[in-house]
Amino acid sequence: MSGLSVDFRLPVACPGCGSHLMRVSQVKNPDDKVHCASCGSYVCLYHEACSVLEKGPGSESEALIEKAVNRANR
Ligand SMILES: [Zn+2]
Repeated sequence: MSGLSVDFRLPVACPGCGSHLMRVSQVKNPDDKVHCASCGSYVCLYHEACSVLEKGPGSESEALIEKAVNRANR
């Protein structure tokens, strides 16, 4: 594993630091974890990030990210 990753912008900010810049592995598998590029917190899975990118900013996207983060911290 080379650990190559790419950065992308998410319409919803990182719950930890408020940054919109996220990082995911270059292969971009649906189940790959998306982390904040700034503070490194886990944010969501890549397929969830894709839904957020499709929906754009808004309460629906925020709820999706919130759910993903809560699931990870459980
Ligand atoms: Zn962050």
